[in-house]
Amino acid sequence: MKILVINAGSSSLKYQLIDMEDESIHAIGLCERIGIDGHIKHKPLVNGKPVFEADLSMPTHAEAIEAVLDKLVSPEYGVVSSMSEISAVGHRVLHGGIEFAKSVFIDKACMDAIERCIPLGPLHNPANIMGIEACRKVMGDKVPMVAVFDTAFHMTMPAKACTYAIPYEYTEKDNLRRYGFHGTSHRFVSENARRMLGKLDDPNSKIIVCHLGNGSSLSAVKGGKCVDTSMGLSPLVGLPMGTRCGDIDPTVLQFIMNKYSMTMDEVMTMMNKKSGVLGVSGVSSDFRDLGKAAEEGNERAQLALDMFHYWVAKVVGSYAAAMNGVDGIAFTGGIGENGCDSRAAICEYLGYLGVKIDEEANKNRGKEMFISTEDSKVKVMVIPTNEELVIARDTQAIVNAMK
Ligand code: AMP
Repeated sequence: MKILVINAGSSSLKYQLIDMEDESIHAIGLCERIGIDGHIKHKPLVNGKPVFEADLSMPTHAEAIEAVLDKLVSPEYGVVSSMSEISAVGHRVLHGGIEFAKSVFIDKACMDAIERCIPLGPLHNPANIMGIEACRKVMGDKVPMVAVFDTAFHMTMPAKACTYAIPYEYTEKDNLRRYGFHGTSHRFVSENARRMLGKLDDPNSKIIVCHLGNGSSLSAVKGGKCVDTSMGLSPLVGLPMGTRCGDIDPTVLQFIMNKYSMTMDEVMTMMNKKSGVLGVSGVSSDFRDLGKAAEEGNERAQLALDMFHYWVAKVVGSYAAAMNGVDGIAFTGGIGENGCDSRAAICEYLGYLGVKIDEEANKNRGKEMFISTEDSKVKVMVIPTNEELVIARDTQAIVNAMK
């Protein structure tokens, strides 16, 4: 079974075609500047065919999907002989609200529910809906589609972890609560961590996943179920991130808005796009640039790195408390998989838990492996995430169950 995985943003659309026979990626690509002008980069991975890259008119997501399918079946750049070889489509959807605790087949009721979640994910859900509708328009009704939600894995959080301490009617009436994101990644990585520890079916296993990338979040996973996570109603909170501010006292917003006559929208843009390690350092949101600048003596770059590492360690400590212990800590995401210096700096704080890092092993990048010593009380792992594979696996399982 070949499955097309789609991740639609407001002006972009990422895709992978995955053969579930051996879970290999047959093609990968990206459409950008949808609604502006349009650009596609399509990369076949199995048959030595060349990369296709060009400007193409994409007034809507439908033209982008058309371009993707056209390239997937093209004799020159394609990886399938006809569209009928694509058995199903899996869509990443950002916000499932309280409606979705797992992946679902997309039907009218599902689309209505995703629409109802728009107030909770105003930047992403409309784009996800456009991606789904565009696929439906171009591929027709016969190809089954599945929605996989970033929030779903975290729906097992107990009320004490996900309730905001505001008047309770907002929780009840408006579903304002902590949801958490990167759920497919936290699910994939925590499952692999349990497998690596020989605790796949242990109801008492305690894993902390550190998904550290441009956006960063941690989760506490007990017996395979998420019991806490650092993001909230939106992906803005928790750790300081590439450009997002993370946890902040709302009074700071009031101060800035009053003093600089800024609107709420302007402050939200500042907190989403100009803050985090970029805002503190004034250098970059990329940890490679920060590392280099800090080495050259840039104190603000060093401060941004120090803050990030401190925050990760602080949240790890709180999750060890929440679970009354921890068996394994797993690093993933661009920084978690590749940032050896960041992993070392974070683990420096964790000696009290019995964490001991193997310095040689920690030099590896992007490989699934243990980076703690044999006698480390808590095992530390690097586990490259694969959100597209989770989406493809869920899509296959749901489509197969319907047969
Ligand atoms: P992601 O959002 O998971 O794709 O992660 C992207 C981020 O990973 C980049 O912005 C970098 O900050 C970080 N990153 C990628 N490669 C490295 C590396 N070799 N060392 C440190 N950080 C890295």
